[in-house]
Amino acid sequence: MSYDTQPKASHFIDGAYVEDTSGTPIPVIYPATGKQIATVYAATPAIVDQALAAAHRAQKAWGAMTGTERGRILRRAADMMRERNHDLSVLETFDTGKPYQETIAVDATSGADALEYFGGLAGSLTGEHIQLGEDWVYTRREPLGVCVGIGAWNYPTQIACWKGAPALACGNAMVFKPSEMTPLCALKVAEILHEAGLPAGIYNVIQGFGEVGASLVTDPRVAKVSLTGSVPTGKKVYSAAAAQMKHVTMELGGKSPLLIFDDADLENAVGGAILGNFYSSGQVCSNGTRVFVQKGIKEAFLKRLSERLSTAVIGDPMDEATNFGPMVSEKQMKIVLDYIEKGENEGARRVTGGKRLERDGFYLQPTVFADVTDDMTIAREEIFGPVMAVLDFTTEDEAITRANATEFGLSAGVFTRDLSRAHRVIAALEAGSCFINSYNDAPVEAPFGGTKMSGVGRENSKAAINHYSELKSVYVRMGDVEAPF
Ligand code: NDP
Repeated sequence: MSYDTQPKASHFIDGAYVEDTSGTPIPVIYPATGKQIATVYAATPAIVDQALAAAHRAQKAWGAMTGTERGRILRRAADMMRERNHDLSVLETFDTGKPYQETIAVDATSGADALEYFGGLAGSLTGEHIQLGEDWVYTRREPLGVCVGIGAWNYPTQIACWKGAPALACGNAMVFKPSEMTPLCALKVAEILHEAGLPAGIYNVIQGFGEVGASLVTDPRVAKVSLTGSVPTGKKVYSAAAAQMKHVTMELGGKSPLLIFDDADLENAVGGAILGNFYSSGQVCSNGTRVFVQKGIKEAFLKRLSERLSTAVIGDPMDEATNFGPMVSEKQMKIVLDYIEKGENEGARRVTGGKRLERDGFYLQPTVFADVTDDMTIAREEIFGPVMAVLDFTTEDEAITRANATEFGLSAGVFTRDLSRAHRVIAALEAGSCFINSYNDAPVEAPFGGTKMSGVGRENSKAAINHYSELKSVYVRMGDVEAPF
């Protein structure tokens, strides 16, 4: 199989590919082999300025179009993404190392879902009329202007669309910066949007490291910043945005709890724990990495978990049978290995996995630790890799208290056959995106985002509209103005 993974140019600005090789070269590494498959160049200040100027210039006319016209373009782009799903999935696999079996099902398709959903909503965005006796107020839902999207490396196509689709539906322009580790996919999203009829300048992609992101955030032409990334980066970006009172959406990290009660359906609970820890080799922000298992079901749970993990097909991500791929980078693999070592040193019991695979690329075994206690590093810090921590609990109250004893609040899940308990426990858990007898579903129709240090705002669903538009209220007086003097 040979694919041309080198993009036409590093950036996509004002409706066209743009190259500027004077920026720092960014090697693109295929995680399954460790080999370089492309080179892009970080945006120079001139490229940053070019992208922001194009977005700023184009936005007013885009915002003045009807929502139906804007939506038609987004929905056309959604259809094109679905038609090109195979090629986009192959590229996503090269960019991230995630198995093609995953990317063909999840990445371009969920990006297309976002374009279709927000394309559909665009025509029905309205303000309201508020009658006040003879006088009245009306509200106008207006675009914010130029929005900046900054992405993490785990879902490059999806993140580019989850930010772009609502922004564009509301009449904004966007400058998107992917993670420098996965720079390829967002360029394809830009290309497709323009083929679908998007006016030049409305969706731009520029490459770069954190400093490029930082220069976008502080530019006065930018009205809003939406970041998907870690909590430390979120703090920096949020405070930089605050200096100019910009709008923000922060989709940050987590250490989410998954509570499995004695009465749970064992196979479903094990399946949920696998999905919530090992999909995308564990590189998912909402993962339920603290798996609290009630003592009565613990041994049966660990036994079935180990059995099912032993059937994971680890290998070439392009092979359709492979369902567990490498880590995104050598750096991330080393971070995870370091956590595994800490788990062992702090006394957790390794049930399975724990090693790097002896082959090219950045492969780790799916790893499970049991007898984990709340104070251990692997129970407190986000690992962002295939490492599950299993903690025991006895009572519901105890599990809730311990589950909430974290600075994070992205997700939470519960497995139980007791209907009342399921809803009671989920209501008590401090998290934004929750699951009952399931884990990690993220349909575009549902709000997605975190509480506490895991974030601010929501992506997807109608809720995202509020984060990409603002209301102007207009008071209309029908009679005379009464002034005191
Ligand atoms: P980082 O926080 O390291 O980076 C996120 C993005 O921010 C990258 O594009 C990065 O650029 C950029 N960046 C870094 N510093 C700055 C800065 N000072 N100003 C502006 N931009 C900056 O996250 P990772 O890419 O390592 O992704 C993993 C993290 O993302 C995990 O914590 C994970 O939980 C979280 N995540 C959250 C999701 C959610 O929806 N809640 C979804 C997916 C991931 P560069 O990479 O070039 O340094």
